[in-house]
Order: sequence, then C-alpha cells, then structure tokens
Amino acid sequence: MPKYIFVTGGVISSVGKGTVAASIGKILQSRGYNVDFLKIDPYVNVDAGTLNPYSHGEVFVTDDGGETDLDLGWYERFLDIPMSRLNNLTTGQVFQEVIRRERAGEYLGQCVQIVTHVTDEIKRRIRLVAERRGADIIIVEIGGTVGDIEAQPFYEAARQMKLEEETLFVHVSLVIYLETTGEFKTKALQHSVNELRRAGIQPDIIVARSQRIIDEATRRKIALFGTLPKEAVFCSYDTDVIYEVPLILDQQGLGDFIVKHLSLSNTQPDLSEWRRIVETFKSNGPLVKIAVCGKYTALTDSYISIKEALKHASAYHNARLEILWVDAEKVERDSIEEISKLEEAHGILVPGGFGKRGSEGKIIAINLARTQDKPFLGICFGLQMAVVEFARNVLGLKGANSTEHDQDTPHPVIDLMPEQRQTEQKGGTMRLGSLPVVIKKGTLAYRLYESELIHQRHRHRYEVNPAYHQKLTGAGLVFSGLSPDGNRVEIIELPSKKYFIATQYHPEFKSRPGKPEPVFRGLIAAALAEVKIRDMQVKVQ
Ligand code: GLN
Repeated sequence: MPKYIFVTGGVISSVGKGTVAASIGKILQSRGYNVDFLKIDPYVNVDAGTLNPYSHGEVFVTDDGGETDLDLGWYERFLDIPMSRLNNLTTGQVFQEVIRRERAGEYLGQCVQIVTHVTDEIKRRIRLVAERRGADIIIVEIGGTVGDIEAQPFYEAARQMKLEEETLFVHVSLVIYLETTGEFKTKALQHSVNELRRAGIQPDIIVARSQRIIDEATRRKIALFGTLPKEAVFCSYDTDVIYEVPLILDQQGLGDFIVKHLSLSNTQPDLSEWRRIVETFKSNGPLVKIAVCGKYTALTDSYISIKEALKHASAYHNARLEILWVDAEKVERDSIEEISKLEEAHGILVPGGFGKRGSEGKIIAINLARTQDKPFLGICFGLQMAVVEFARNVLGLKGANSTEHDQDTPHPVIDLMPEQRQTEQKGGTMRLGSLPVVIKKGTLAYRLYESELIHQRHRHRYEVNPAYHQKLTGAGLVFSGLSPDGNRVEIIELPSKKYFIATQYHPEFKSRPGKPEPVFRGLIAAALAEVKIRDMQVKVQ
C-alpha cells in the first residue's frame, strides 16, 4: 500500500517547500524507496502554460508535454526520475473534471458540492499518482500558504486522507532571524501551525526555514507550540548549494524519523554519490561568466532550469559560475551597462521567449556573440533570433524576421508551423514535450551528444521556415539536428566559430547535477577556454 507525505507551507509562499519536498524524496530514494510526487497549484488555470513567467516563474515542460509548475523541475533534478503532466494538479483541472461529469449526468440527481465531489476528485488524482509508477511513497506538495482561500478544498482532501491512508504531514514554515538582536522569531510560524490546525491538520513534522540554523531553545519552543516532540523539528537553513539540503536534513535525522513514523524498514541511506556531486558545486576553480540575455531577467525564477543547467555544467568542469543577467529590452535601448555585461561575459546564452518585446535586444546580443566569436548557446526563441540575425547580416535579407512579431516582414525566415494555423485555443496547443531529434555526424552537436538520435522537450509554435532552408545552409549555417522526417530544424550551428550552437528544443529541462546536458557542458567548456585566453592576454600585457 502506498504511503502519502503531505508538504504544506506557512507564512510566505516560496518558503522552500519544493526543495524540502524534493529533499524528502531524495532521502527516501537513497533508502531504496520508489518515490513519486504531486504538486498541487490552487490557481484556476488548467496548467501553468498560460501564466506569465513573472507571476509563477518558469513553465516546466515534461516528457509527455505537460506545461507544469517549476517545482517538478526540482523533483526531476533531485531524483532524476521523469515527471509527467499527472504530477501537477490545479484547481482548474479538478473543476474541469467535476463539471464534465456533472454535464455527462454522472451525478444525476445529486447536488454537486465542494465536499464531497470536489474533494473526492482531488483524492482520486492524488491516488492516481501512486498507480503511475507503482511508487511506495507519494509526496504531495500543496502550493501557496496555509490559509489561502483557494486552497481549502485541497487541505480538506488531505485531512480526509489522514483517516483513509497512511500519511505524514510536514509543515514548512518561516522562522525569522533578527540580525540586530541575534534572535530567532517563531511567532509567524506558530500562527501558521494554528492555521493548519484550523483546517483539521496537526503536523507530524515541522521544518523551520531560516537564514541560519536554529538553536536548541528555538527548536524546543517550536516543538512546544506545535505540540510535537523536539525530534520532529528540523531546520532547512540557507546554503549556497541547494543540492545540499537533503544531506543537511538527513544529518538532522529527518530520514530516520520518517522511516520510523511510516513503519518503513530500510533505514540505511546511501547518499555517498550525491555527497560527491554536491562537493563538485563547491569548486575553487576559475570563474566563468555567462551572460543570459532575456526579458524576464528581473525574476530569475523565470529561467530556473537554465540557471541550474549552467550550474551543473560549471560544477562538472570545476568552474565557479557567475551569471550576468542582461535585460534584452535595455540592450535594445543601447544601455551601456547591459551591453558591457555582454562584452564582459565569456559566453552568451539567449533563452526561450515569446513576443516582440526585447527581441531586437536579443538579436544584438547574438550579433555580438557571432561577430566577436564568443561562445553562444541559443534556446528555442534564441535559435529563432539567431536565424533572423544570420539572415539579416550574413545573407543580407533586410528586414528578415519571425512572423511572430512582424506579420509583414519581407523575409519570414521564422514562421508558424503549418499545423499551428488551425489551432484557435491557446492552452496546451504548442508543439510540446519529448520528440526525437536526428543528429548529423561530423558536427559539433554530434561531438556533444555522441549519438545520432536524442529525445528532447519542446514548447513552441514557430520554426525555421522551410522555404529558407537552402538559402541559410548555402551561406554556411549548418542544420546539425533535424526532426526524423528532415523537415524541421532542431539544431543550428556555425562551424567557423569556436562554439556557436542553438536548439529549437529546451535542453535545460534534462540537465541534472552530476549529469550536465551536453550543450550546456559544451558552452562552459568553450567559455573556460575564453577565460584562459584572457588570462594569457593579461600576462602578455
Ligand atoms: N515564441 C517562440 C515560438 O512559439 C519560441 C517559444 C520558446 O522560446 N519557448 O515558437
């Protein structure tokens, strides 16, 4: 029988529930258990695909084309198991199903209510995760903060499951550290525990999230007010390496406590490989600076998988990483500050994006990378803008553009994919999820992937216009990755440059600590070569 661990959050959103949930998963996986997850997002959207990344951060794409919450990215990076659209549940999905059934007459004669119809559907979806891979333990993370009106049906479903299944409730809440007096303040945490109790849930474990490790007196106080033994209170404090959190929590005895509470038998964790990987993130090696030029740079959570993929690749090469966030719109307006970051960087990355705003700034960044032969990686929109830049400045096609932002361009080098012309709905209608990519031998892409066939995740409506394929390749742009039918461009590169590559797919979703994604690994290797060249130049001077 599967067991269920619920993770709730208090005081503030983004308190670190996702990291704690993923860490608990890692701790249990290291004891040989098959773990799966469900992230609950109480908003009414059916999925994250229609949300602006500024409000909820990145949209994480699963193999099966789910447009999901970024916490699924943490589950994948920590446990290296693929998530699916089933691992993310929203209010929108719950109501869509309940209303569908009501219209189909499945509840004929009944008054359809939050309790029990909506809560039953929530419980069905939670249990469905257990069937997916036959997991022993399902970790259910309820998004937002306890007390949120929109999340109440989910807390109610969780409360009911306590009576029906073997469960464990973990409450992650903020403890504030006052620098001036050197005190830990727990009142907000106490209030959030009370709020949880109001929903009928008594936590079995409290994880205090704080800037630094809490002292014994604070731990005792939290236990006293939370009606818990002191041994049930843990602390997740700030650390430079997020992948260290499972080690920190397990060292405090979290794994042993959970194993005992859920009557599990395996008590000996094997975290040695994970520990080795975590150490690679603490390297003292050379500093490599990568400029990421996008339009959501004010909220770097919008690019979280890219940020992590760059970290994985840097750790792999024993380099220290500094990301220079470059606002594409400011580049567009000639901001000296932003452009000097592009100049300073050892490599430039242009990530995915949508719409006109900032697109010319990205083209400027790509032009700088190409003409100065600076290592460059373009992703999705980044590939599309690299093709526009090449068309304009190498092929001399004046006004070349993507029809996404210029319907009347004389040279639509990037155009809507034919099958997209019929789609009217916006939600879940892009070219989504894992698809095969055939790689040409003898190219940089082949050297990186060492394979003629890879599978990568997609999320786009536009593509390199087939009408321009010949012109582009004739001028030296290499299509080193294509869809199996040969019609769709998946990877472009410029062999005359040191490292100039872009992908239509999103490689960042498949990068893992200890297993960096090849195009990121290649970017950091090329950027490190730049560091060496600059060092030598300094010495010569
Ligand atoms: N807006 C572009 C498209 O729809 C790129 C999408 C992306 O970067 N994810 O094709």
